[in-house]
Amino acid sequence: MPHPRPGITRDNAFFWEGVARRELRIQSCGACGRLLHPPGPACPECHSFERSFVRARGRGTVHSYVVAHHPPIPPFEYPNPIALIELEEGTRLVSRLVGVDPDDVRIGMPVEVDFETVDDDFVLHCFRPAGRGEAA
Ligand SMILES: [Zn+2]
Repeated sequence: MPHPRPGITRDNAFFWEGVARRELRIQSCGACGRLLHPPGPACPECHSFERSFVRARGRGTVHSYVVAHHPPIPPFEYPNPIALIELEEGTRLVSRLVGVDPDDVRIGMPVEVDFETVDDDFVLHCFRPAGRGEAA
């Protein structure tokens, strides 16, 4: 069962090009600098269409999460923890959590981005518990 691919649009192409290079990119407004995720056509702050992006450091915390059990959809593994990550940059994004028992996921837990090659050359971002021993 091949892994489903994201729907690429002109709005989000830069994001997925970044993921393919193992970079987490956030849309930024070319006029006022406001960060925006998920990507969109215009800045919600100043309505500029001038779009740019920044490369996120890839660190954040679990803002909210669910552990999916049903219905099992191949090729995903269950239970499947999916989190809304609050990035240090201030935007949030949805991501799969890896490297943690679903029962141990907690709101506020520090996480960091990682990238997995799913099949062939397809790369997906995920988040895992932040490395131990690192300064907070
Ligand atoms: Zn703006």
